[in-house]
Amino acid sequence: MSKAIQAIRGMNDCLPTETNIWQMVESVLRRVASNYGFAEIRMPIVESTHLFKRSIGEVTDIVEKEMYTFDDRNGDSLTLRPEGTASCVRAGIEHGLLYNQEQRLWYMGPMFRHERPQKGRYRQFHQFGIEAFGIATPDIDAEIIMLSARIWRELGISEFVELELNSLGSNEERAAYRDALVAFLTERESQLDEDSKRRMHTNPLRVLDSKNPDVQAALQGAPKLSDYFGEESQQHFEQLCARLDAAGIKYTINDKLVRGLDYYNRTVFEWVTSSLGAQGTVCAGGRYDGLVEQLGGKASPAFGFALGIERLVLLLTSLEKVNNVRPQVDAYLITLGEGIDIKGVALAEQWRSQVPDIHIQNHCGGGNMKKQMKKADRSGAQIALILGEDELANQQITVKYLRGQHEQQTVALSDVAALLETLI
Ligand code: ATP
Ligand code: MG
Repeated sequence: MSKAIQAIRGMNDCLPTETNIWQMVESVLRRVASNYGFAEIRMPIVESTHLFKRSIGEVTDIVEKEMYTFDDRNGDSLTLRPEGTASCVRAGIEHGLLYNQEQRLWYMGPMFRHERPQKGRYRQFHQFGIEAFGIATPDIDAEIIMLSARIWRELGISEFVELELNSLGSNEERAAYRDALVAFLTERESQLDEDSKRRMHTNPLRVLDSKNPDVQAALQGAPKLSDYFGEESQQHFEQLCARLDAAGIKYTINDKLVRGLDYYNRTVFEWVTSSLGAQGTVCAGGRYDGLVEQLGGKASPAFGFALGIERLVLLLTSLEKVNNVRPQVDAYLITLGEGIDIKGVALAEQWRSQVPDIHIQNHCGGGNMKKQMKKADRSGAQIALILGEDELANQQITVKYLRGQHEQQTVALSDVAALLETLI
């Protein structure tokens, strides 16, 4: 045998035992997005490298060290998308969707970042994203945060995630604050680690969310961004908080939350959990009013978030919230006796037409009752439908329950569709 080829490190297969959890999560995400009137947009996975450099920012972790960038055969520099917002804005501008219009969009799909793979951090991972364009007022900030809260509620994990909220003010306010922060950090430069020293010059706000306790200690008494807010930024944040309060959504204001991408202004937020270890941020986003213009469109305010699907699936699994996920097979059809399998196939076809959402697996490959029952059990089905000569002669089928403590029963063939309905 030759040596088997393996998947790329940090890029995972999603196996059939997990895909049903993914499908359940994806269907909740799609449904909730639709509940709020958002439409799906699908963008390519590969984009021009410039797009990400210009939007995410040259001195961010993503652009500095995480992108999968390569020259294609024409010598153009291309990048596997590390996130969806930049592509979404590019597509919106290119197709005239953002010109003097509102858009409420969602997307879902793979993203690529060359990070050190660990639990909850992969090189190919999947995001569900929401982006709204053309609305500057805090009502849309609140609407989208409420949408995210509904996702947790639908999945039964509201009590395990917490909302952290902050405002980054306007670009001008942030520039004034940046000067004050750099002055403060310069006086304490000896207490900073190498990363923070470098960031102090390139992206000083990132020093605020350093995980190093020494750096956090050095930040004691640092100037606060909110002290630099003008009336508008102040009001925007207050109105958002008032709306969340009215909706009963709890949050903590974290004035160190700055997010790693350059394009945010005003509202930023993260949903975090303590149930996943170090990779605790499940969903993150905020306002990015400058990005559309920065990428060559007519200025348009915008707000959005991205949710990490792997982290969400890990969270659901670790909280055992996946027990009621529907198995891939509901009913397994067993046939016994000469030629009965052909009758069985016709019946299964009829039931699939009568109950369009049913998952029926027909036994294939022959064998006795014991062999077929074993496969029925392995399929994960709730019931085995057994069709033999006696059953066929009486226009009946034997139903054997494979999970739980139900008695075996006999059902008229004309009643099978109704029985199958109860399995969905
Ligand atoms: P982190 O601080 O964990 O690196 P980030 O700020 O880089 O996250 P964003 O760019 O805001 O993350 O992406 C939004 C969400 O996508 C994250 O909150 C997380 O759930 C998910 N995510 C980001 N990077 C990865 C990754 N490498 N593997 C799996 N999920 C990821
Ligand atoms: Mg990251």
